[in-house]
Amino acid sequence: MTADIAPQLDPFALARSLSGLNLVDGTLRPAASGKTFPVVNPATGEAVATAPFSEAADVDAAVAAAKRAQKDWARRPVRERGKLIAACGQALAERVEELGRLVALETGKALRTESRVEASVLADMFVFFGGLASELKGETVPFNPSMLTMTVREPVGVVGTIIPWNVPLLLMAMKIAPALVAGNAVVVKSAEESPLTVLRVVQVMNTILPPGLVNIVAGFGPECGAPLVAHRDVKKVTFTGSVETGKIVYRTAAEKLIPVTLELGGKSPMIVCADADLDRAVDGAISGMRFTRQGQSCTASSRLFVHDAIHDAFVEKLRAKVDAMVMGDPLDERTDIGTIISPQQLDRVQSYIALGREGAGITAHECSCLPSDPKLAKGLFVRPVIFTGVSNDDRIAREEIFGPVCCVIRWSDYEAVIAAANDSDYGLAATVWTNDLKLALDAVHRLEAGFVQVNQNLVVQPNLSYGGVKASGLGKEASLESMLEHFTHKKTIIINMG
Ligand code: ADP
Ligand code: MG
Repeated sequence: MTADIAPQLDPFALARSLSGLNLVDGTLRPAASGKTFPVVNPATGEAVATAPFSEAADVDAAVAAAKRAQKDWARRPVRERGKLIAACGQALAERVEELGRLVALETGKALRTESRVEASVLADMFVFFGGLASELKGETVPFNPSMLTMTVREPVGVVGTIIPWNVPLLLMAMKIAPALVAGNAVVVKSAEESPLTVLRVVQVMNTILPPGLVNIVAGFGPECGAPLVAHRDVKKVTFTGSVETGKIVYRTAAEKLIPVTLELGGKSPMIVCADADLDRAVDGAISGMRFTRQGQSCTASSRLFVHDAIHDAFVEKLRAKVDAMVMGDPLDERTDIGTIISPQQLDRVQSYIALGREGAGITAHECSCLPSDPKLAKGLFVRPVIFTGVSNDDRIAREEIFGPVCCVIRWSDYEAVIAAANDSDYGLAATVWTNDLKLALDAVHRLEAGFVQVNQNLVVQPNLSYGGVKASGLGKEASLESMLEHFTHKKTIIINMG
């Protein structure tokens, strides 16, 4: 165990103190090669820390530590494991402010609207899964009266966990909390854009858990992520990221015949009917589109199907509300909208905005204002764009943009709008806005998505299975069933008493 660590509310000082380090086998250490890469504050373009450029040797050390620690962990009484994971949640809950500020610094997500919220959900995930330990039950099976036949749930071993930068805390928690409660050890590979706060979380966890049980390495996909997936002692991989990388992970896992969980993004439809409560639907579009996160969400309701009868009124209200949102320093409490994560993502988002502007019949409504503070002159800010006159066939309606860009598509025929909503490679989430119960029930059954809501747009919740169909991925997360299905295997046992 590492010594107790004092809370540090200054995110710049905390970033410096975590600079250049992985956490492997209970100790903070640099990469074996000594190589590092910069961690940049996207609001100013300034480097705030470095992170270790980890490679296969670092992955090997982390997996070896995890393998050692897992043996003893799996033998502990389940409730003891659960209590320790819940204790991690309590320790993290006391650090919501510290973690929120640090994640705001490295990701550019506004502290008040996004980062602090994410830090509190992180803690909740650990508490939730900690309480589920006793649910790791098996069954007795009526096979033969003279044979005691039963199943038990066993951990898979070492779980490789690869996470992206957009919601690093929540996504890590959704993966490692159930993996650990189920008796596995984990090696996390953080995203190259946001390695610091997840490292801090693992450091806090290591004050409670045995060394080697939770390890974290920073680095890039080919040099660090790929060797983790390919490692012979990694028996399961859980991944959130892009479709392209997800396929690479899946192929490597296939060579080893190990299971994977993949969460790969979306292009989620939001269908607003003529009878919908307009103000509520507009607020739902804003939260669903994750404008406060610059649209950097796999669940973003980026295809907004609005009924012809209310289309103009809806767009007018939406524009006015997004216009009133304050873009600025992510650490400033007044800020609603922070920055894009990286210059590469900024280019990508801007190229989609340019593409939309060229589209026949498409109008671009630019909202909000760029911050005027000269300190933020190099910040990766993008004005939210609402495109109207979009067709579901346009590229901006088909491809995941991962930016503050939403496509409004006018509709009038119910059958046609359900078909258009389903006409997508993705199937992560969908929402329907109506007061017509019959229509709502019909739509929720017919929409091809893993998470369908009526008259609301909630994000991932503990105990609700989360995950997509089609190109959005494989497997569910965040629920009891996800823990049982993805982090244990079922062993069948027969004791012949005849
Ligand atoms: P994006 O770059 O758009 O955020 P990615 O899917 O590339 O999406 O990244 C998600 C995570 O996957 C990151 O932690 C990244 O480093 C990692 N990653 C990228 N390429 C690979 C790979 N070949 N093998 C394993 N992990 C990878
Ligand atoms: Mg990438």
